[in-house]
Amino acid sequence: LLERFLESVAARVGDVEILSGAACAQRYRDPFQLFVDGPPPPAALRPRSVDEVRVIVREANACGVALWPISRGENLGYGGAAPAEEGTVVLDLARMNRILEVNVPDAFCLVEPGVSFIDLFDRLERDGLPLWLSVPGYGLGSVAGNALERGVGNSPYGDHAAQICGLEVVLGDGELLRTGMGALPGSGMWQRHRSPLGPRLDELFLQSGYGIVTKLGLWLMPEPEASAAVEAEIESRESLAGAIDALTRLKRAGVVQDSPVVASYLTQAALHSTRAEWGPPGAALSGEAEGRLRAALGLGWWNARVRVYGPPEVVDLGVARAEHAFAGVPGCTVRVSRWRAGEPMARAHRGLPTAEGLANRNWCGPHGAHIDLAVGLPLSGAEATRYAFFVSETMAAADLDYHAAFYLRDRHILNVVQILFDQADSAMCQVVDAVYFRLIEDAARRGFGLHRAPTRYRAAAMAAYDFGDGAMRRVRERLKRALDPNAVLSPGKDGLG
Ligand code: ADP
Repeated sequence: LLERFLESVAARVGDVEILSGAACAQRYRDPFQLFVDGPPPPAALRPRSVDEVRVIVREANACGVALWPISRGENLGYGGAAPAEEGTVVLDLARMNRILEVNVPDAFCLVEPGVSFIDLFDRLERDGLPLWLSVPGYGLGSVAGNALERGVGNSPYGDHAAQICGLEVVLGDGELLRTGMGALPGSGMWQRHRSPLGPRLDELFLQSGYGIVTKLGLWLMPEPEASAAVEAEIESRESLAGAIDALTRLKRAGVVQDSPVVASYLTQAALHSTRAEWGPPGAALSGEAEGRLRAALGLGWWNARVRVYGPPEVVDLGVARAEHAFAGVPGCTVRVSRWRAGEPMARAHRGLPTAEGLANRNWCGPHGAHIDLAVGLPLSGAEATRYAFFVSETMAAADLDYHAAFYLRDRHILNVVQILFDQADSAMCQVVDAVYFRLIEDAARRGFGLHRAPTRYRAAAMAAYDFGDGAMRRVRERLKRALDPNAVLSPGKDGLG
């Protein structure tokens, strides 16, 4: 069947690249996998256009072959480019990489899935466009894939999924859909106005496997007149609650627009050093090693940052309020950096797409990797601290280091815990696996859910969402059947068959 499928795709889609064998195995795997779960995907298809995608989907239906669409496949920490199930053909959209529109007055873009953060950033720079892009910690992936997986950045536009405005999607049966105002032929409103008459469908295609997104509209941040970052080193592990509550008050006062972040010292240490420099493997870092590390790298136990954007008066007020907020947190040292329009861009507080975030993979040595746990917590210092201490103690008991960041959103905290490990140490991989499953169960017991999960853990994380004896799962299965009747798309995505 696979042979027949590949032959008919090759015959009907002249321009498609087909990869198989070693080239496919090497490229479409999860470089951060804990275990070799199964054979690599049998083939990958790299189309150039929506029409080609539609032909491929029709052929997949005819031959009963499943497809795993990816944009650039850089979803590191959550499964990379690898399909969830054996035998699935990768549909790699990286060659569909046109930036179709960048609109300055209304601050939006329309991109194809293969457009990377670097591509879009370069376009804005090259043309001197006064628009800022929010980028994730690891900026080499695609704008579309990251937003569709609910990736985050650190700017007022850092909730990437929330900036989506209008999608073009090929459904599992080959139908072509434009969401929102895109459904109204000839409308210029597709990337401007999110709410058509009736239900909004964009959300259906986030983390879902219900369709293949071939165009994505995204709101960008208009360049502000000024910006500032207020960064704080917080000495004591016990001050987390105070820091979170201070930042929450600041956010509620409406003077900061971005999502302030508080991160444990190891998140920074892992970007700039390796574990072996500070202590022997297989045991938690001693208090002495922790002190030495923090002194050498100039880190608080927690390190917080909030950024302010807008007219200079607004920025001044935001900085003053942020300094005041941190002044109430014991053992806190504050540093402010400012930028004004006209000054070198490098000093502006905007994201630069770089591979910097990847540096922490070396923490555990040359075979280092990480998997990430992203959990939504209440916006409360006390609750976040209780959870942080539980997770860090669970990890310490398993001789794992605690790398965690707390992003304060409007009504909740997104807590990302990175579990860094050595892929060459199979005992450690077993431990990491067990800890991850335990943390999923524990989060559910506390009423918290994962908001993103590596492929291996998706089904377990999804199982916790079981109100009404699994009503949400059943409704999703019904949607899946309606939109992808032969289940040719993304099998195993988010625990759906
Ligand atoms: P990135 O390269 O931006 O980090 P990926 O291409 O790895 O992201 O995508 C992450 C996941 O999101 C994929 O495994 C897939 O499930 C989903 N995804 C990405 N792009 C698309 C798309 N264009 N259509 C449908 N699903 C997608």
